[in-house]
Amino acid sequence: MQLFHRLDALPALSYEERQLLDSVKALTRDEIAPRAAEHDRTAEFPWDNIRAINALGLNAMFVPECCGGAGLSYAAYLACVREISAACASTGIIWATNFHATKPLIDFGSEEQKRRLLPRVAEGAIGALCITEPAAGSDATHMATRFTSDGDDIIVSGGKTFISNGDVADLYLVFGKWSELGDGRNAISALYLEKGTPGLSVLRTEDKMGHRAASTAAIAFDDCRVPRGNLLGRPGEGLGLLLAALNKSRPSVAAHALGIARAAFEDALAYINDRRQSGRRIIEFQGVQFLLADLATELAMCEAWLWHVARLVDAGESDIGIEASMLKLRASDLAMRIATEAVQLHGGYGYIKEYRVERLLRDAKITQIWEGTNQIHRQLIGRSFITRG
Ligand SMILES: Cc1cc2nc3c(=O)[nH]c(=O)nc-3n(C[C@H](O)[C@H](O)[C@H](O)COP(=O)(O)OP(=O)(O)OC[C@H]3O[C@@H](n4cnc5c(N)ncnc54)[C@H](O)[C@@H]3O)c2cc1C
Repeated sequence: MQLFHRLDALPALSYEERQLLDSVKALTRDEIAPRAAEHDRTAEFPWDNIRAINALGLNAMFVPECCGGAGLSYAAYLACVREISAACASTGIIWATNFHATKPLIDFGSEEQKRRLLPRVAEGAIGALCITEPAAGSDATHMATRFTSDGDDIIVSGGKTFISNGDVADLYLVFGKWSELGDGRNAISALYLEKGTPGLSVLRTEDKMGHRAASTAAIAFDDCRVPRGNLLGRPGEGLGLLLAALNKSRPSVAAHALGIARAAFEDALAYINDRRQSGRRIIEFQGVQFLLADLATELAMCEAWLWHVARLVDAGESDIGIEASMLKLRASDLAMRIATEAVQLHGGYGYIKEYRVERLLRDAKITQIWEGTNQIHRQLIGRSFITRG
């Protein structure tokens, strides 16, 4: 369809980036999409997909060339997230989480840290971004995980909950409070904790409504000893790092949600162009056309905004918090709306697991909750307009 072909041509990708995106499309069509229903059914981590993604060397696209990567654009990264997520939302969020956990290292790590840790990421290491705790969700500043200085090491104690890739990660970006700085938001600090560190344990993995093949773990830090060299920035700089990290991860989860939205829209279109009732195809009923018009218009506007935010980031703009919140809010609400309508347009068949829309609806819901619930994003956007009294 010309409308969507033109939208897909919007991001200014280089020849090399378009070629990579074509390889990702082939991978999702031939391998990832055909396995998605089975991964959803078994809820087993999709190692086959991760191996295939690593065989393409996909992590390398967001790692700078100096550290073993290819240093491709943010727009190219978002295009790949959307493509993978449309085929299998679980695999999409697993791969995107590698970026979420690594981008702060790329943007704020020391040269030594980058040279030491990034080549592993480029080769396919799995990342985890650890912010949420049982009593600190929407208000992360109440986190209780502690970092205590001990000679050349930092002792990490506490725990995190709902951590994507938490049971399989090689590299954990952990936020906690620097003991000597007290308990306020100015004590928040960040460090990289590596797989196999004594004291790191997985308490459980969650049994979820959707994204069933993507693992979500509760993890504990029982006096984990981390070398001081793994501290990101200085003690007390964590909140700034956290907000900067979210500015890059929120457009990424929006691209993921738009992948689900596009898949649901395409499935609905295919179905109603074919299914007949009362002597007509479902799409020939005007009430259905009005609904399609609204959904397609919303989808087109939101995808255009995705590429607008990508352009800002690729141009080096860092103050994009409000644009990123708007994108995350609209993309996730839209994914939920389109998935719900896609099930409705399939009638009873939409409720049956044989049709992909049933899974897409379950996968869409979390996009309104993670990376800041949509209530929090409405608050962030709304309060940005308050003038100084
Ligand atoms: C599958 C999954 C994967 C996740 N992955 C990660 C991950 O990789 N890393 C990570 O750190 N976290 C992760 N999370 C955590 C996720 O980001 C949090 O669940 C989310 O931020 C909400 O926090 P909460 O669950 O504690 O809800 P709460 O903060 O307890 O919120 C409960 C309700 O109250 C509302 N609410 C709270 N405060 C306000 C307010 N000020 N105004 C209006 N309404 C409000 C919320 O919107 C929500 O509806 C994941 C969660 C899930 C379920």
